[in-house]
Amino acid sequence: MKVLICGAGIAGLTLAWWLRRGGAEVTIVERAPGPRSDGYMIDFFGSGYDVAERMGVLGDLREIAADISELAYTDPRGRRTGGVRYASAAAILGGRVLSLMRGGLESVLRSSLDPGVEVRYGTSVAAVRDVPGGVEAELTDGTVSRADLLAGADGIHSVVRRLVFGPEEHYLRPLGYHTASYLLRDAGLAERTGGRAVLVSVPDRQAGIYPTRDGALAAFLVHACTDTALPADPRSEITTRYRGMGALTDRILAHCPPDPYYDCVAQIRMPRWSRGRTVLIGDAAHAVSLMAGQGASMAMGGAYTLAVELLGADAGAALERYERRMRPFVLGKQDSGRTAAEWMVPHQAWRIAVRNRLAGLAGLPGGRAVMGRAFRRLSESVIPAA
Ligand SMILES: Cc1cc2nc3c(=O)[nH]c(=O)nc-3n(C[C@H](O)[C@H](O)[C@H](O)COP(=O)(O)OP(=O)(O)OC[C@H]3O[C@@H](n4cnc5c(N)ncnc54)[C@H](O)[C@@H]3O)c2cc1C
Repeated sequence: MKVLICGAGIAGLTLAWWLRRGGAEVTIVERAPGPRSDGYMIDFFGSGYDVAERMGVLGDLREIAADISELAYTDPRGRRTGGVRYASAAAILGGRVLSLMRGGLESVLRSSLDPGVEVRYGTSVAAVRDVPGGVEAELTDGTVSRADLLAGADGIHSVVRRLVFGPEEHYLRPLGYHTASYLLRDAGLAERTGGRAVLVSVPDRQAGIYPTRDGALAAFLVHACTDTALPADPRSEITTRYRGMGALTDRILAHCPPDPYYDCVAQIRMPRWSRGRTVLIGDAAHAVSLMAGQGASMAMGGAYTLAVELLGADAGAALERYERRMRPFVLGKQDSGRTAAEWMVPHQAWRIAVRNRLAGLAGLPGGRAVMGRAFRRLSESVIPAA
C-alpha cells in the first residue's frame, strides 16, 4: 500500500509510524521548511497517552515533560484565588498524564519514525484527483504523486480538506475566543513562579505562563472575541487586549515576539471524513479545540485507529470503520469542549470564582471522588485495552 500524508504534525507522524510498521510505503509532505519546534504546552493523556505507550515512546516523552507543581489562578493583583496541585490531578488519572510542549511531542514522534518514511519539507498539495484504484496529488514542487490513499493531516486550516471537501467556512465552528502563545525566557519570572503554572483571570480574558522542562516559560493567552478574521498585527492586538491585567501579565506581554502563534479557537465538524481515496485525520477532520484539551490525543488516537483499519481491510471498508469507531469519541470531546469554554475563560466574575473553588476539590478526599468521575470520563480512550 502506498500512502501520501499531507502534514508532519502529531496526526501525520503517528499515522506514518503505524503504516510503515505494517509495511506500507509512506511519504509525508510538510509545508514548513523544516522540523517545527515551536508550540504551546499541552496536557497529554487518554487516547494519545495509550498510543504513545504502544509505540514505546513514553520514556522519551517523560524525559521532555515539564515538572509542574500546581496550576494557580490569580487575580490581576497577583493574589491566589484558587488552583489545583498537578499531583492530585495526575493521581486521579492513575499517573497517566504528561505536560508536554507540542513541538517536543512532535520531535519524539519524528525521531521514532522508520528512516524508510520520506519526509519532504517545504512542500504541500496543490491539487487532488481521484484516479482508478487510487488518488493523484499535484505537489507544490511541481511533481505529481500517485498513491492508494491521501491522508490530510494538515491541521485545522487543512488545504486537503479545502481541495477535496470544500471551503473552510462549511466546517469551521468558532467558539467565540482567540488564543495566542509563545515561548519566553525570563529567569526572574521563572524563579518567582517557581515551577507553578500561573493564570491571571478576569471576565473574558486569561493570561498565564507554564514552566517548561528547559527553564523557558510558555505564555498562554485566551480572550473572548467573536471575530473570525485574525488581526494583521497579532502582537499589537495582544498588547492592547490584555492591558490592565496586572504586573505579571505586563511582564509576559513585554516578551511577545512579532509573530506569536495566534488563531481563533474553533472546532471542525464534518458529516464525513473521507471522499474517494482521500481521508482526513486529526484537527483537519475533527478539531476539538484547546477548550477540550485533547486535540493532540484525539489526533494520535485517530491516526492509530485509521492505520489499524487500513492494515486489516481494503481501503473502502477501512475508511468506514475508522469513522464509525472515532466519531462517537470525537463528538463527546467536542461537546465537552464547548461546555468547558464557559468555565475556562468565563464571561462573568462569578463563574471565575466558582471555577477557582471547584479546581481545588481535586486535592480534597471528598472532592477527589467527584473529580475522579469527571476526569475518568474525560480521559476515556478510543484505544481498546491490549
Ligand atoms: C493553545 C493550545 C493549547 C492546546 N492544548 C492542548 C492540550 O492540552 N491537550 C491536547 O491534547 N491538545 C491540545 N491542543 C490541541 C492540539 O495541539 C491539536 O489538536 C493537535 O496539534 C492536532 O494535531 P494535528 O497533527 O492534527 O495538527 P497540527 O498539530 O496542526 O499539525 C498539522 C501539520 O500540518 C502542517 N501543514 C499545515 N498546512 C499544510 C499544508 N498546506 N501542506 C503541508 N503541511 C501542512 C503543519 O505545518 C503541521 O506540521 C491545544 C491547541 C492549542 C492551540
